[in-house]
Amino acid sequence: MSTSGTALTHQLFINGCSVPSSDLSSSPLINPANGETIATVSNGSAEDIDSAVKAADAAYRGAWGAMKPGDRATALRNLAAKIRENVEELALLETKSVGKPLSSSRGEVGYAAKVYEYYAGLIPSVCGQTVPISANGTGLTFREPLGVCGLIVPWNFPIVILAWKLAPALAMGNTVVVKPAEWTPLTAIRLGELAIEAGIPAGVINIVPGLGPVAGAALSAHPQVRKISFTGSTATGSAIMKACADDIKRVSLELGGKSPSIVFADADLEKAAGSVMSIYDNTGQDCCGRSRYLVERSIYAEFVERFVANSRAVKIGDPLDADTEIGPLASTIQWNRVDGYVKQGVAEGAQLCTGGGRPTAEQFAAGSYYEPTVFANVKPGMTIAQMEIIPFDSETEAVEIANGTPYGLAASIWTRDVARALRVVRAVEAGVISVNSSSSVHLEMPFGGFKQSGIGRELSPAAMEQYSEVKSVFISAE
Ligand code: NAD
Repeated sequence: MSTSGTALTHQLFINGCSVPSSDLSSSPLINPANGETIATVSNGSAEDIDSAVKAADAAYRGAWGAMKPGDRATALRNLAAKIRENVEELALLETKSVGKPLSSSRGEVGYAAKVYEYYAGLIPSVCGQTVPISANGTGLTFREPLGVCGLIVPWNFPIVILAWKLAPALAMGNTVVVKPAEWTPLTAIRLGELAIEAGIPAGVINIVPGLGPVAGAALSAHPQVRKISFTGSTATGSAIMKACADDIKRVSLELGGKSPSIVFADADLEKAAGSVMSIYDNTGQDCCGRSRYLVERSIYAEFVERFVANSRAVKIGDPLDADTEIGPLASTIQWNRVDGYVKQGVAEGAQLCTGGGRPTAEQFAAGSYYEPTVFANVKPGMTIAQMEIIPFDSETEAVEIANGTPYGLAASIWTRDVARALRVVRAVEAGVISVNSSSSVHLEMPFGGFKQSGIGRELSPAAMEQYSEVKSVFISAE
Protein backbone atom coordinates (compact mmCIF):
# COMPACT_ATOMS: atom_id res chain seq x y z
CA MET A 1 0.00 0.00 0.00
CA SER A 2 1.35 3.53 -0.73
CA THR A 3 0.11 6.85 0.64
CA SER A 4 1.12 9.28 -2.12
CA GLY A 5 -1.62 11.79 -2.96
CA THR A 6 -4.81 12.11 -0.91
CA ALA A 7 -6.46 8.67 -1.20
CA LEU A 8 -4.54 5.53 -0.18
CA THR A 9 -3.26 3.65 -3.19
CA HIS A 10 -3.44 -0.13 -2.98
CA GLN A 11 -1.04 -1.80 -5.35
CA LEU A 12 -0.62 -5.25 -6.84
CA PHE A 13 0.89 -7.88 -4.55
CA ILE A 14 3.38 -9.97 -6.52
CA ASN A 15 6.09 -12.25 -5.13
CA GLY A 16 5.57 -10.92 -1.61
CA CYS A 17 5.90 -7.22 -2.59
CA SER A 18 3.50 -4.34 -3.25
CA VAL A 19 4.19 -3.05 -6.75
CA PRO A 20 2.51 -0.51 -9.03
CA SER A 21 0.99 -1.74 -12.29
CA SER A 22 3.39 -1.80 -15.23
CA ASP A 23 1.41 0.90 -17.07
CA LEU A 24 0.78 2.89 -13.83
CA SER A 25 -2.97 2.79 -14.40
CA SER A 26 -5.33 2.84 -11.42
CA SER A 27 -9.04 3.27 -10.58
CA PRO A 28 -10.84 4.94 -7.68
CA LEU A 29 -12.89 2.75 -5.31
CA ILE A 30 -16.25 4.20 -4.31
CA ASN A 31 -18.08 3.52 -1.03
CA PRO A 32 -21.62 2.59 -2.23
CA ALA A 33 -23.13 3.84 1.04
CA ASN A 34 -22.19 7.48 0.42
CA GLY A 35 -20.51 7.83 -2.99
CA GLU A 36 -17.15 8.84 -1.44
CA THR A 37 -13.82 7.67 -2.85
CA ILE A 38 -12.23 5.36 -0.28
CA ALA A 39 -9.04 4.39 -2.10
CA THR A 40 -7.24 4.16 -5.40
CA VAL A 41 -6.27 0.73 -6.71
CA SER A 42 -3.66 -0.17 -9.32
CA ASN A 43 -5.03 -1.95 -12.39
CA GLY A 44 -2.96 -4.95 -13.39
CA SER A 45 -2.01 -5.32 -17.06
CA ALA A 46 -1.27 -8.47 -19.09
CA GLU A 47 2.42 -7.82 -18.31
CA ASP A 48 1.66 -7.80 -14.56
CA ILE A 49 -0.29 -11.05 -14.87
CA ASP A 50 2.74 -12.57 -16.59
CA SER A 51 5.04 -11.45 -13.71
CA ALA A 52 2.59 -12.85 -11.15
CA VAL A 53 2.31 -16.20 -12.96
CA LYS A 54 6.11 -16.46 -13.17
CA ALA A 55 6.40 -15.75 -9.42
CA ALA A 56 3.73 -18.38 -8.68
CA ASP A 57 5.44 -20.92 -10.93
CA ALA A 58 8.81 -20.32 -9.20
CA ALA A 59 7.20 -20.76 -5.76
CA TYR A 60 5.50 -23.97 -6.94
CA ARG A 61 8.81 -25.40 -8.13
CA GLY A 62 10.60 -23.98 -5.09
CA ALA A 63 9.72 -23.39 -1.43
CA TRP A 64 6.02 -24.31 -1.54
CA GLY A 65 6.46 -27.41 -3.65
CA ALA A 66 9.18 -28.61 -1.27
CA MET A 67 7.15 -27.97 1.88
CA LYS A 68 5.95 -31.06 3.77
CA PRO A 69 2.15 -31.52 3.99
CA GLY A 70 2.17 -31.00 7.76
CA ASP A 71 4.00 -27.68 7.36
CA ARG A 72 1.49 -26.58 4.71
CA ALA A 73 -1.30 -27.33 7.18
CA THR A 74 0.47 -25.24 9.85
CA ALA A 75 0.85 -22.36 7.37
CA LEU A 76 -2.89 -22.45 6.57
CA ARG A 77 -3.78 -22.49 10.27
CA ASN A 78 -1.42 -19.53 10.84
CA LEU A 79 -3.21 -17.67 8.03
CA ALA A 80 -6.56 -18.34 9.72
CA ALA A 81 -5.13 -16.95 12.98
CA LYS A 82 -3.87 -13.82 11.18
CA ILE A 83 -7.33 -13.30 9.65
CA ARG A 84 -8.91 -13.51 13.12
CA GLU A 85 -6.36 -11.07 14.59
CA ASN A 86 -7.31 -8.57 11.87
CA VAL A 87 -11.06 -9.19 11.74
CA GLU A 88 -12.05 -5.56 12.41
CA GLU A 89 -9.77 -4.12 9.71
CA LEU A 90 -10.83 -6.72 7.13
CA ALA A 91 -14.53 -6.35 7.97
CA LEU A 92 -14.37 -2.58 7.59
CA LEU A 93 -12.61 -2.86 4.22
CA GLU A 94 -15.34 -5.27 3.06
CA THR A 95 -18.18 -3.09 4.30
CA LYS A 96 -16.76 0.09 2.77
CA SER A 97 -16.34 -1.49 -0.64
CA VAL A 98 -19.35 -3.86 -0.89
CA GLY A 99 -21.83 -1.93 1.29
CA LYS A 100 -22.79 -4.97 3.39
CA PRO A 101 -23.64 -4.45 7.09
CA LEU A 102 -20.56 -4.47 9.30
CA SER A 103 -22.03 -7.33 11.37
CA SER A 104 -22.27 -9.44 8.17
CA SER A 105 -18.71 -8.55 7.17
CA ARG A 106 -17.40 -9.58 10.60
CA GLY A 107 -19.24 -12.91 10.27
CA GLU A 108 -17.87 -13.49 6.76
CA VAL A 109 -14.27 -12.72 7.80
CA GLY A 110 -14.57 -15.18 10.72
CA TYR A 111 -16.12 -17.77 8.39
CA ALA A 112 -13.24 -17.32 5.89
CA ALA A 113 -10.79 -18.15 8.71
CA LYS A 114 -12.74 -21.37 9.36
CA VAL A 115 -12.47 -22.34 5.68
CA TYR A 116 -8.62 -22.20 5.85
CA GLU A 117 -8.68 -24.28 9.04
CA TYR A 118 -11.04 -26.83 7.51
CA TYR A 119 -8.77 -27.41 4.49
CA ALA A 120 -5.67 -27.50 6.72
CA GLY A 121 -7.44 -30.36 8.51
CA LEU A 122 -8.10 -32.22 5.23
CA ILE A 123 -4.45 -32.25 4.12
CA PRO A 124 -3.60 -35.56 5.87
CA SER A 125 -6.59 -37.24 4.18
CA VAL A 126 -5.17 -36.74 0.67
CA CYS A 127 -4.14 -40.31 -0.06
CA GLY A 128 -3.73 -42.49 -3.11
CA GLN A 129 -4.77 -46.14 -3.35
CA THR A 130 -3.15 -49.51 -3.89
CA VAL A 131 -5.27 -51.10 -6.60
CA PRO A 132 -5.78 -54.84 -7.30
CA ILE A 133 -4.94 -55.11 -11.01
CA SER A 134 -4.96 -57.89 -13.63
CA ALA A 135 -1.23 -57.79 -14.30
CA ASN A 136 1.88 -59.04 -12.58
CA GLY A 137 2.72 -56.05 -10.45
CA THR A 138 1.29 -53.37 -8.22
CA GLY A 139 -1.07 -50.51 -9.11
CA LEU A 140 -0.78 -47.27 -7.13
CA THR A 141 -2.48 -43.91 -7.45
CA PHE A 142 -1.22 -40.52 -6.27
CA ARG A 143 -3.15 -37.27 -6.06
CA GLU A 144 -0.90 -34.48 -7.40
CA PRO A 145 -1.26 -30.70 -7.40
CA LEU A 146 -1.82 -28.90 -10.72
CA GLY A 147 0.70 -26.04 -10.50
CA VAL A 148 -0.30 -22.40 -10.91
CA CYS A 149 -4.05 -21.81 -10.51
CA GLY A 150 -5.83 -18.59 -11.53
CA LEU A 151 -8.62 -17.60 -9.14
CA ILE A 152 -11.10 -15.01 -10.49
CA VAL A 153 -13.57 -13.79 -7.87
CA PRO A 154 -16.69 -11.56 -7.86
CA TRP A 155 -17.64 -8.60 -5.69
CA ASN A 156 -20.58 -9.96 -3.70
CA PHE A 157 -18.70 -12.12 -1.11
CA PRO A 158 -15.07 -11.19 -1.80
CA ILE A 159 -13.23 -12.67 1.19
CA VAL A 160 -15.53 -15.71 1.46
CA ILE A 161 -15.42 -16.79 -2.18
CA LEU A 162 -11.66 -16.22 -2.27
CA ALA A 163 -11.34 -18.58 0.73
CA TRP A 164 -13.48 -21.24 -1.01
CA LYS A 165 -10.93 -21.32 -3.85
CA LEU A 166 -7.64 -20.40 -2.18
CA ALA A 167 -7.84 -22.75 0.81
CA PRO A 168 -8.26 -26.03 -1.16
CA ALA A 169 -5.84 -24.83 -3.88
CA LEU A 170 -3.09 -24.22 -1.27
CA ALA A 171 -3.99 -27.31 0.76
CA MET A 172 -3.34 -29.43 -2.36
CA GLY A 173 0.07 -27.74 -2.84
CA ASN A 174 -0.72 -25.37 -5.73
CA THR A 175 0.29 -21.71 -5.98
CA VAL A 176 -2.08 -18.99 -7.20
CA VAL A 177 -2.67 -15.71 -8.98
CA VAL A 178 -5.86 -14.04 -7.73
CA LYS A 179 -7.85 -11.54 -9.83
CA PRO A 180 -10.30 -9.84 -7.45
CA ALA A 181 -13.34 -7.96 -8.76
CA GLU A 182 -12.89 -4.34 -9.82
CA TRP A 183 -14.95 -2.86 -6.96
CA THR A 184 -13.71 -5.07 -4.12
CA PRO A 185 -9.99 -5.91 -4.22
CA LEU A 186 -8.98 -4.57 -0.78
CA THR A 187 -9.46 -7.66 1.42
CA ALA A 188 -7.68 -9.86 -1.15
CA ILE A 189 -4.66 -7.53 -1.25
CA ARG A 190 -4.53 -7.45 2.57
CA LEU A 191 -4.84 -11.24 2.69
CA GLY A 192 -1.74 -11.50 0.47
CA GLU A 193 0.20 -9.47 3.05
CA LEU A 194 -1.16 -11.50 5.98
CA ALA A 195 -0.12 -14.73 4.24
CA ILE A 196 3.51 -13.59 4.30
CA GLU A 197 3.18 -12.83 8.03
CA ALA A 198 1.69 -16.33 8.45
CA GLY A 199 4.85 -17.91 6.98
CA ILE A 200 3.50 -18.70 3.50
CA PRO A 201 6.47 -18.11 1.17
CA ALA A 202 6.55 -15.15 -1.25
CA GLY A 203 5.11 -15.99 -4.65
CA VAL A 204 2.63 -18.60 -3.39
CA ILE A 205 -0.23 -16.06 -3.32
CA ASN A 206 -0.12 -13.21 -5.85
CA ILE A 207 -2.94 -10.66 -6.06
CA VAL A 208 -3.49 -8.74 -9.29
CA PRO A 209 -6.52 -6.43 -9.17
CA GLY A 210 -7.62 -4.99 -12.50
CA LEU A 211 -10.26 -4.98 -15.19
CA GLY A 212 -11.87 -8.29 -16.12
CA PRO A 213 -11.35 -8.00 -19.87
CA VAL A 214 -7.68 -7.05 -19.31
CA ALA A 215 -6.21 -8.77 -16.22
CA GLY A 216 -8.88 -11.50 -16.00
CA ALA A 217 -8.64 -12.32 -19.70
CA ALA A 218 -4.80 -12.37 -19.58
CA LEU A 219 -4.91 -14.81 -16.64
CA SER A 220 -7.40 -17.11 -18.41
CA ALA A 221 -5.25 -17.18 -21.55
CA HIS A 222 -1.84 -17.53 -19.86
CA PRO A 223 -0.13 -20.74 -21.02
CA GLN A 224 1.60 -21.39 -17.66
CA VAL A 225 -1.70 -21.35 -15.74
CA ARG A 226 -2.98 -24.90 -15.29
CA LYS A 227 -6.47 -24.13 -14.02
CA ILE A 228 -8.96 -21.28 -13.74
CA SER A 229 -11.50 -21.28 -10.95
CA PHE A 230 -14.10 -18.59 -11.60
CA THR A 231 -17.14 -17.25 -9.80
CA GLY A 232 -19.27 -14.62 -11.51
CA SER A 233 -21.79 -14.19 -14.27
CA THR A 234 -22.70 -16.88 -16.76
CA ALA A 235 -21.67 -14.69 -19.73
CA THR A 236 -18.16 -14.17 -18.32
CA GLY A 237 -17.94 -17.85 -17.36
CA SER A 238 -18.63 -18.77 -20.98
CA ALA A 239 -15.90 -16.36 -22.22
CA ILE A 240 -13.42 -17.83 -19.71
CA MET A 241 -14.26 -21.39 -20.73
CA LYS A 242 -13.52 -20.47 -24.37
CA ALA A 243 -10.19 -18.86 -23.35
CA CYS A 244 -9.27 -22.00 -21.39
CA ALA A 245 -10.08 -24.27 -24.35
CA ASP A 246 -6.98 -23.27 -26.33
CA ASP A 247 -4.52 -25.02 -24.03
CA ILE A 248 -7.00 -27.43 -22.34
CA LYS A 249 -6.79 -25.65 -18.97
CA ARG A 250 -8.83 -27.14 -16.19
CA VAL A 251 -11.79 -24.92 -15.42
CA SER A 252 -14.40 -24.77 -12.70
CA LEU A 253 -17.23 -22.25 -12.81
CA GLU A 254 -19.68 -20.99 -10.18
CA LEU A 255 -22.18 -18.88 -12.10
CA GLY A 256 -25.54 -17.19 -11.84
CA GLY A 257 -28.83 -18.52 -10.55
CA LYS A 258 -32.56 -17.80 -10.48
CA SER A 259 -33.32 -20.12 -7.63
CA PRO A 260 -36.85 -21.17 -6.68
CA SER A 261 -38.46 -21.62 -3.27
CA ILE A 262 -41.44 -23.97 -3.68
CA VAL A 263 -44.12 -23.55 -1.01
CA PHE A 264 -46.80 -26.26 -0.76
CA ALA A 265 -50.12 -25.67 1.03
CA ASP A 266 -49.16 -28.00 3.91
CA ALA A 267 -45.97 -26.00 4.72
CA ASP A 268 -45.32 -24.11 7.94
CA LEU A 269 -46.52 -20.84 6.41
CA GLU A 270 -45.03 -18.58 9.04
CA LYS A 271 -41.59 -20.11 8.53
CA ALA A 272 -41.84 -20.10 4.72
CA ALA A 273 -43.13 -16.50 4.50
CA GLY A 274 -40.58 -15.49 7.12
CA SER A 275 -37.68 -16.53 4.90
CA VAL A 276 -37.43 -13.09 3.30
CA MET A 277 -33.69 -12.81 3.93
CA SER A 278 -33.24 -15.70 1.49
CA ILE A 279 -33.57 -13.01 -1.17
CA TYR A 280 -32.71 -9.73 0.60
CA ASP A 281 -29.53 -10.90 2.33
CA ASN A 282 -26.49 -9.08 0.92
CA THR A 283 -28.99 -6.64 -0.63
CA GLY A 284 -30.24 -9.37 -2.96
CA GLN A 285 -26.75 -9.89 -4.41
CA ASP A 286 -26.41 -13.54 -3.49
CA CYS A 287 -26.01 -16.12 -6.23
CA CYS A 288 -28.22 -18.52 -4.22
CA GLY A 289 -30.92 -15.88 -3.55
CA ARG A 290 -34.37 -17.47 -3.79
CA SER A 291 -35.71 -14.88 -6.20
CA ARG A 292 -38.71 -16.96 -7.35
CA TYR A 293 -41.27 -18.11 -4.79
CA LEU A 294 -43.60 -20.71 -6.33
CA VAL A 295 -46.66 -20.94 -4.08
CA GLU A 296 -49.57 -23.41 -4.22
CA ARG A 297 -52.65 -21.49 -5.32
CA SER A 298 -54.81 -22.31 -2.25
CA ILE A 299 -52.44 -20.39 0.05
CA TYR A 300 -51.21 -17.86 -2.53
CA ALA A 301 -53.07 -14.76 -1.28
CA GLU A 302 -52.18 -15.35 2.36
CA PHE A 303 -48.56 -16.06 1.50
CA VAL A 304 -48.21 -12.86 -0.57
CA GLU A 305 -49.73 -10.79 2.24
CA ARG A 306 -47.35 -12.24 4.85
CA PHE A 307 -44.29 -12.08 2.59
CA VAL A 308 -44.92 -8.44 1.65
CA ALA A 309 -45.41 -7.48 5.32
CA ASN A 310 -42.16 -9.23 6.25
CA SER A 311 -40.37 -7.52 3.34
CA ARG A 312 -41.52 -4.09 4.52
CA ALA A 313 -40.10 -4.85 7.99
CA VAL A 314 -36.56 -5.43 6.70
CA LYS A 315 -34.35 -2.68 8.11
CA ILE A 316 -32.47 -0.87 5.33
CA GLY A 317 -29.78 1.54 6.47
CA ASP A 318 -26.18 2.63 6.87
CA PRO A 319 -24.01 -0.52 6.82
CA LEU A 320 -22.10 0.81 9.84
CA ASP A 321 -25.29 0.92 12.00
CA ALA A 322 -25.61 -2.12 14.25
CA ASP A 323 -29.32 -2.75 13.49
CA THR A 324 -29.04 -2.48 9.69
CA GLU A 325 -30.13 -5.67 7.92
CA ILE A 326 -29.46 -4.54 4.34
CA GLY A 327 -27.16 -1.80 3.09
CA PRO A 328 -26.88 -0.29 -0.38
CA LEU A 329 -26.34 -2.24 -3.59
CA ALA A 330 -22.61 -2.66 -4.31
CA SER A 331 -22.39 0.08 -6.97
CA THR A 332 -24.39 2.49 -9.09
CA ILE A 333 -23.96 0.02 -11.97
CA GLN A 334 -25.84 -2.54 -9.85
CA TRP A 335 -28.47 0.07 -8.89
CA ASN A 336 -29.19 0.86 -12.54
CA ARG A 337 -29.30 -2.85 -13.42
CA VAL A 338 -31.83 -3.60 -10.65
CA ASP A 339 -33.94 -0.54 -11.45
CA GLY A 340 -34.01 -1.56 -15.13
CA TYR A 341 -35.42 -4.99 -14.19
CA VAL A 342 -38.05 -3.45 -11.91
CA LYS A 343 -39.24 -1.09 -14.67
CA GLN A 344 -39.34 -4.04 -17.06
CA GLY A 345 -41.45 -6.04 -14.57
CA VAL A 346 -43.97 -3.20 -14.29
CA ALA A 347 -44.07 -2.83 -18.09
CA GLU A 348 -44.71 -6.58 -18.49
CA GLY A 349 -47.77 -6.32 -16.25
CA ALA A 350 -46.53 -7.91 -13.01
CA GLN A 351 -48.07 -6.51 -9.83
CA LEU A 352 -45.57 -4.44 -7.80
CA CYS A 353 -46.50 -5.18 -4.16
CA THR A 354 -43.79 -3.24 -2.34
CA GLY A 355 -40.55 -1.37 -3.04
CA GLY A 356 -39.58 -0.44 -6.59
CA GLY A 357 -37.06 2.37 -6.08
CA ARG A 358 -34.71 4.31 -3.80
CA PRO A 359 -35.99 4.82 -0.24
CA THR A 360 -37.16 8.43 0.09
CA ALA A 361 -35.39 9.48 3.34
CA GLU A 362 -32.56 12.04 2.90
CA GLN A 363 -29.90 9.63 4.31
CA PHE A 364 -30.32 7.41 1.24
CA ALA A 365 -29.82 10.11 -1.41
CA ALA A 366 -26.05 9.72 -1.99
CA GLY A 367 -25.76 5.92 -1.75
CA SER A 368 -26.94 3.14 -4.08
CA TYR A 369 -29.81 2.05 -1.80
CA TYR A 370 -32.82 0.15 -3.20
CA GLU A 371 -35.99 -0.86 -1.35
CA PRO A 372 -36.78 -4.58 -0.91
CA THR A 373 -39.05 -5.18 -3.90
CA VAL A 374 -41.75 -7.81 -4.42
CA PHE A 375 -43.76 -8.61 -7.52
CA ALA A 376 -46.88 -10.82 -7.43
CA ASN A 377 -48.96 -12.44 -10.17
CA VAL A 378 -45.85 -13.08 -12.19
CA LYS A 379 -46.25 -15.43 -15.11
CA PRO A 380 -43.50 -17.86 -16.16
CA GLY A 381 -41.67 -16.29 -19.08
CA MET A 382 -41.65 -12.72 -17.78
CA THR A 383 -38.07 -11.47 -17.71
CA ILE A 384 -38.08 -9.58 -14.41
CA ALA A 385 -35.35 -10.52 -12.01
CA GLN A 386 -36.58 -9.22 -8.68
CA MET A 387 -38.41 -11.10 -5.95
CA GLU A 388 -41.31 -12.80 -7.74
CA ILE A 389 -44.19 -14.85 -6.34
CA ILE A 390 -45.73 -17.25 -8.86
CA PRO A 391 -48.81 -19.44 -8.22
CA PHE A 392 -48.95 -23.16 -9.12
CA ASP A 393 -51.71 -25.81 -9.02
CA SER A 394 -49.87 -29.16 -8.82
CA GLU A 395 -46.54 -30.69 -7.83
CA THR A 396 -45.81 -31.42 -11.49
CA GLU A 397 -46.45 -27.81 -12.46
CA ALA A 398 -44.27 -26.54 -9.57
CA VAL A 399 -41.33 -28.66 -10.74
CA GLU A 400 -41.88 -27.57 -14.34
CA ILE A 401 -41.74 -23.87 -13.37
CA ALA A 402 -38.78 -24.46 -11.03
CA ASN A 403 -36.81 -26.09 -13.86
CA GLY A 404 -37.94 -23.55 -16.46
CA THR A 405 -34.76 -21.45 -16.47
CA PRO A 406 -31.28 -22.09 -17.91
CA TYR A 407 -29.93 -22.03 -14.33
CA GLY A 408 -29.77 -24.70 -11.63
CA LEU A 409 -27.91 -23.42 -8.60
CA ALA A 410 -30.13 -23.69 -5.50
CA ALA A 411 -33.73 -24.40 -4.45
CA SER A 412 -35.90 -24.64 -1.34
CA ILE A 413 -38.92 -26.88 -0.79
CA TRP A 414 -41.42 -26.09 1.95
CA THR A 415 -43.73 -28.98 2.92
CA ARG A 416 -44.49 -31.27 5.90
CA ASP A 417 -44.88 -34.27 3.57
CA VAL A 418 -41.55 -36.14 3.59
CA ALA A 419 -42.38 -38.29 0.57
CA ARG A 420 -43.25 -35.21 -1.48
CA ALA A 421 -40.13 -33.42 -0.30
CA LEU A 422 -37.97 -36.31 -1.52
CA ARG A 423 -39.83 -36.55 -4.86
CA VAL A 424 -39.36 -32.85 -5.52
CA VAL A 425 -35.72 -32.86 -4.32
CA ARG A 426 -34.94 -35.50 -6.97
CA ALA A 427 -36.94 -33.76 -9.73
CA VAL A 428 -35.58 -30.22 -9.31
CA GLU A 429 -32.49 -29.55 -11.42
CA ALA A 430 -30.29 -27.71 -8.91
CA GLY A 431 -26.99 -28.41 -7.19
CA VAL A 432 -27.92 -27.22 -3.69
CA ILE A 433 -31.38 -27.92 -2.23
CA SER A 434 -32.80 -27.25 1.23
CA VAL A 435 -36.05 -28.58 2.70
CA ASN A 436 -37.96 -26.27 5.07
CA SER A 437 -35.00 -23.91 5.05
CA SER A 438 -33.20 -21.55 2.70
CA SER A 439 -29.75 -22.36 3.97
CA SER A 440 -27.56 -23.16 0.96
CA VAL A 441 -23.97 -23.25 2.05
CA HIS A 442 -22.32 -25.73 4.40
CA LEU A 443 -18.56 -25.96 4.62
CA GLU A 444 -18.66 -29.77 4.69
CA MET A 445 -21.10 -30.15 1.73
CA PRO A 446 -20.31 -29.83 -1.99
CA PHE A 447 -21.54 -26.52 -3.45
CA GLY A 448 -22.15 -25.80 -7.15
CA GLY A 449 -24.67 -25.68 -9.92
CA PHE A 450 -26.46 -27.71 -12.58
CA LYS A 451 -26.98 -26.43 -16.16
CA GLN A 452 -25.73 -22.87 -16.79
CA SER A 453 -25.05 -22.31 -13.08
CA GLY A 454 -21.64 -23.87 -13.41
CA ILE A 455 -19.22 -26.75 -13.59
CA GLY A 456 -17.47 -28.36 -10.63
CA ARG A 457 -18.00 -28.16 -6.88
CA GLU A 458 -16.55 -25.96 -4.16
CA LEU A 459 -16.41 -26.63 -0.40
CA SER A 460 -16.22 -30.10 1.23
CA PRO A 461 -13.48 -32.60 0.32
CA ALA A 462 -14.82 -32.40 -3.28
CA ALA A 463 -12.99 -29.07 -3.73
CA MET A 464 -9.63 -30.79 -3.19
CA GLU A 465 -10.31 -32.85 -6.33
CA GLN A 466 -10.81 -29.64 -8.33
CA TYR A 467 -7.21 -28.60 -7.61
CA SER A 468 -5.47 -31.93 -8.28
CA GLU A 469 -4.90 -34.69 -10.81
CA VAL A 470 -4.85 -38.44 -10.26
CA LYS A 471 -1.67 -40.19 -11.31
CA SER A 472 -1.76 -43.99 -11.91
CA VAL A 473 1.47 -45.95 -11.45
CA PHE A 474 2.22 -49.57 -12.34
CA ILE A 475 5.24 -51.24 -10.73
CA SER A 476 6.16 -54.46 -12.48
CA ALA A 477 6.89 -57.53 -10.37
CA GLU A 478 8.84 -59.18 -13.18
P1 NAD B 1 -18.63 -10.80 -13.70
O1 NAD B 1 -18.65 -12.09 -14.41
O2 NAD B 1 -18.80 -9.56 -14.46
O3 NAD B 1 -17.27 -10.60 -12.87
C1 NAD B 1 -16.73 -11.56 -12.01
C2 NAD B 1 -15.21 -11.53 -12.13
O4 NAD B 1 -14.81 -11.82 -13.45
C3 NAD B 1 -14.59 -10.16 -11.80
O5 NAD B 1 -13.37 -10.36 -11.11
C4 NAD B 1 -14.34 -9.59 -13.18
O6 NAD B 1 -13.31 -8.63 -13.20
C5 NAD B 1 -13.92 -10.84 -13.94
N1 NAD B 1 -14.07 -10.74 -15.39
C6 NAD B 1 -14.94 -9.97 -16.10
N2 NAD B 1 -14.74 -10.16 -17.45
C7 NAD B 1 -13.75 -11.07 -17.57
C8 NAD B 1 -13.11 -11.71 -18.69
N3 NAD B 1 -13.44 -11.44 -19.95
N4 NAD B 1 -12.15 -12.62 -18.44
C9 NAD B 1 -11.80 -12.94 -17.18
N5 NAD B 1 -12.35 -12.36 -16.08
C10 NAD B 1 -13.32 -11.46 -16.27
O7 NAD B 1 -19.70 -11.02 -12.59
P2 NAD B 1 -20.55 -9.96 -11.82
O8 NAD B 1 -21.83 -9.75 -12.53
O9 NAD B 1 -19.71 -8.79 -11.46
O10 NAD B 1 -20.75 -10.86 -10.50
C11 NAD B 1 -21.95 -11.29 -10.02
C12 NAD B 1 -22.34 -12.64 -10.60
O11 NAD B 1 -21.68 -13.66 -9.87
C13 NAD B 1 -23.82 -12.91 -10.47
O12 NAD B 1 -24.31 -13.45 -11.68
C14 NAD B 1 -23.88 -13.97 -9.36
O13 NAD B 1 -25.01 -14.80 -9.45
C15 NAD B 1 -22.60 -14.70 -9.60
N6 NAD B 1 -22.15 -15.44 -8.40
C16 NAD B 1 -22.17 -16.80 -8.42
C17 NAD B 1 -21.78 -17.52 -7.30
C18 NAD B 1 -21.78 -19.03 -7.28
O14 NAD B 1 -21.16 -19.60 -6.40
N7 NAD B 1 -22.44 -19.69 -8.21
C19 NAD B 1 -21.35 -16.84 -6.16
C20 NAD B 1 -21.34 -15.43 -6.17
C21 NAD B 1 -21.73 -14.75 -7.32
